[in-house]
Amino acid sequence: MNAIILSVGDELVLGQTVDTNSAWISQQLAAIGCDIIGHRTVGDDQALIEIAIAEAASLADVIIVSGGIGPTEDDLTRQAIAAVNEVELVVDEKWLAEIEGFFRKLGRRMPETNRIQAMIPAGAQLLWNTCGTAAGVMAMIKSIDVEGEDDNEELVATEVPLFATPGVPKEMKAMFTRDVLPWLKQRTGGAVILSRILHTFGQGESAVAEKLGELMTRGRNPSVGTTVSGGIVSLRLNARYPSLEEATAKLEETAARCHAELGDLIYGQDDVPLATVVARLLLQDPSHPTVATAESCTGGLVARMLTDIPGSSAYFKYGWVTYANQAKTDLLGVPAQTLIDHGAVSEATVLAMAKGARDRAGATYALSLSGIAGPDGGTPEKPVGTVWIALAHTDGVTARRFILTGDREMIRDRAAKMALTMLRF
Ligand code: ATP
Ligand code: MG
Repeated sequence: MNAIILSVGDELVLGQTVDTNSAWISQQLAAIGCDIIGHRTVGDDQALIEIAIAEAASLADVIIVSGGIGPTEDDLTRQAIAAVNEVELVVDEKWLAEIEGFFRKLGRRMPETNRIQAMIPAGAQLLWNTCGTAAGVMAMIKSIDVEGEDDNEELVATEVPLFATPGVPKEMKAMFTRDVLPWLKQRTGGAVILSRILHTFGQGESAVAEKLGELMTRGRNPSVGTTVSGGIVSLRLNARYPSLEEATAKLEETAARCHAELGDLIYGQDDVPLATVVARLLLQDPSHPTVATAESCTGGLVARMLTDIPGSSAYFKYGWVTYANQAKTDLLGVPAQTLIDHGAVSEATVLAMAKGARDRAGATYALSLSGIAGPDGGTPEKPVGTVWIALAHTDGVTARRFILTGDREMIRDRAAKMALTMLRF
């Protein structure tokens, strides 16, 4: 079974409200094995809503609409449904009594405009609203399908189910869960879709894809797809099987293969940020390790990421922002000669920074960063994006050089995340 999701509202097409309903509905549909073939957003214009409904009926097995069933003149979804099916709107006496009762309880008389909310296209079914006065509508949309091929084409009249729910997210969700989901579940053949998101950091999307190879073949089940955000390449795994057991087993199998191909590049899964993963490792370590930071080009970003997590006082000790050479010398003990001989952005400098920070803070680990975030300051030997990161630990100090791409903000963000990843080991 496949679905089209239709959102109605001027505020949506104007970009004043972000269409969160479609995203939520999509997730619900995907979870029960219903394919989503498209999202469509239209303003509060009856003719356009009619076109969108008719088009959706010609493409999808089911249509889910949210919005446009309020009591005001710009709420035109029910009228559009009636027009597409060429029927009148009729009063649902039971719901009319409900709305009147709702206003009576408030000590008010029902405004005449609310009467429209008790009207549904003839032949349609009214869906009760437990959190508001806008009842929903379930209607069978009349559509013409073309069957057969070439000379044997035949026009066949079909009916496509449409559910119209309120636009208010809370009301939409309640109605969808109570009335729409059970209806759909009975008709999707009970397929189960299980999903997992694995996050990687440190390599680009194409490098990750190359490592995954056959796992990313289109049409594979479980499927593996990638998305990128803030330098983090995330793998989306979806397993679709008739039973939960099978879906679980296959998802685990594919996840294990992703781990085998990508190893340490994967730092976490689902909605857990990198800093949280690092924080958990530190908090769960029975030796209670502590961390200090000495930052130049990132200006405190690493310290901020490490302290974003509640409970971070258990591991975070000290953070220095030593932007000027003088600060590196005065606060961290970086020898002035090192800065003269190698420059601030150098292996020797970050090694001295990390060592100085670890000694002064008395921490288990110290991270230091020095780089050229740009847009100016690059040289042929040290281009913009060059970042040295060092980690001082119980066994010594290690440093790595990275050449990061992007603008100033991106380079600083990636550098800070790189530093966090180094802390994972
Ligand atoms: P209802 O049928 O519940 O009255 P409506 O579209 O007729 O819905 P509106 O007053 O237009 O009522 O919208 C109600 C609220 O719901 C508004 O704050 C609107 O921005 C929000 N809303 C409507 N559609 C969406 C959507 N697709 N995603 C997120 N919010 C939405
Ligand atoms: Mg609206």
